[in-house]
Amino acid sequence: MNFDLQLKPYSFLSAATETADELKTQVFIIGGFVRDLILNRKISEIDFLVLGSGTEFAERYAARLNVKNVSVFRNFGTAHFRFKDHDLEFVGARKESYSRESRKPSVLNGSFSDDISRRDFTINTLALSLNHDDYGDLIDTYNGINDIENKLIKAPIDPLITFDDDPLRIMRAFRFASQLNFRLDDSMIEAAGQLKQRMRIVSQERITDEFLKILASDNPSIGLIHMNQTGILEIIFPELANLGGVEQRKDFHHKDVFIHTCQVVENISKVTDNIWLRFAALLHDIAKPQTKKFVEDTGWTFHGHEELGARMIKSIFKKMKLPFNKIEYVEKLVRLHLRPIALAKEEVTDSAIRRLIVSAGEDLGDLIILCRADITSKNQEKVNKYLDNYEKVMKKVWEVEDKDKLRAFQSPVNGEEIMQICNLSPSKLVGEIKSAIEEAILDGKIGNNHDEAFDYLIKIKDNYLK
Ligand code: ATP
Ligand code: MG
Repeated sequence: MNFDLQLKPYSFLSAATETADELKTQVFIIGGFVRDLILNRKISEIDFLVLGSGTEFAERYAARLNVKNVSVFRNFGTAHFRFKDHDLEFVGARKESYSRESRKPSVLNGSFSDDISRRDFTINTLALSLNHDDYGDLIDTYNGINDIENKLIKAPIDPLITFDDDPLRIMRAFRFASQLNFRLDDSMIEAAGQLKQRMRIVSQERITDEFLKILASDNPSIGLIHMNQTGILEIIFPELANLGGVEQRKDFHHKDVFIHTCQVVENISKVTDNIWLRFAALLHDIAKPQTKKFVEDTGWTFHGHEELGARMIKSIFKKMKLPFNKIEYVEKLVRLHLRPIALAKEEVTDSAIRRLIVSAGEDLGDLIILCRADITSKNQEKVNKYLDNYEKVMKKVWEVEDKDKLRAFQSPVNGEEIMQICNLSPSKLVGEIKSAIEEAILDGKIGNNHDEAFDYLIKIKDNYLK
């Protein structure tokens, strides 16, 4: 198979051919680029495999393209530069040997076939020659094309060795399954399960990186279910693994919260790429196991799971090394995820709607997206009814908002004014009076405007000043 035509848009590759001639060596494009070219997926970066020094090649090639900034990592024997919209990565062909304690191998120079055999999956072993004599030829040592056609992720060698050498590959396998909607070969699932304890030598940063890629993919539930089924989840995210299982007592059983969570994440992923909104969906029921109770004649209850769940977010962010500036957002969504449901069920008052608007603030839209994704009933009639109810809640929200201008809600009488009228210096009392005015607005006793708030202040101030 030859890909000469498909390489035409990447005209800068001809300078790589000339560089290989100049250095009397050979160069190939390897891995993700070839896979994604065949699958017609967006190309992110181009990995070059050089027989010889990858860093020297990168420097000479960059010079031909008039690129000044080349990052060279001598210790790793790799180099990188950007050209137009592309990230170009360079490495010399290598042979690796692994120790038990670390996933970082000791590296020796190797041949083309040494290098190909240490790659993780057959679909990532595909190479395209950039050399003069066979430019564009595909080199498919491990039947990678076949596996792409069959949508199959498989190791080029015994998966027990592949995963044992570098257990991060287990996460990578799940990640590619999620991104490409591919199946894992049975041998991979079995090997992953057997070697799950090896995950402990992988750094948290790398685990989190792959985990987030799974969550950001088109089919996050594929990766989540593989992680759960192989026991990897228990090791890297025990709180999530803990959601699995169903308990039956008398005539009552509750739904499997892990499966429900996967469905919610899958639903939300169809409507948003916001990774933190997806993360909130993943964690919305995280405290159900801790709050689960069986109540005679009623069945299973999970009272307070939204509040306890919100309180678990920070420690999860810490352990997973996630960005702290997203904690508050995820906490808020977990804490509020039942509120709109409560409003959708009954005839709602303006006051309840106002409180929701103020609590959710600018994240109200995201909260409703989460709530809609949270509907996982199999009964389509019920689903439609619930969705319809959210429409009604949102319609109310727009009405009340329009009337009250509540998004950036604050008492229309500010602290300065309260201090002046009441002859107070800055103190706790000023805050209390301000809250009282805000409460009155939220309760609908007075309108959200300065005149009514001012009159209300005059009316109540003596109660506070005695
Ligand atoms: P993407 O860039 O979309 O993440 P990719 O396949 O290009 O996908 P990279 O992490 O960029 O993945 O790695 C480039 C290539 O290097 C892979 O295609 C694979 O051949 C090889 N590779 C990367 N990481 C590993 C690993 N942990 N074990 C073995 N081979 C790997
Ligand atoms: Mg890549």
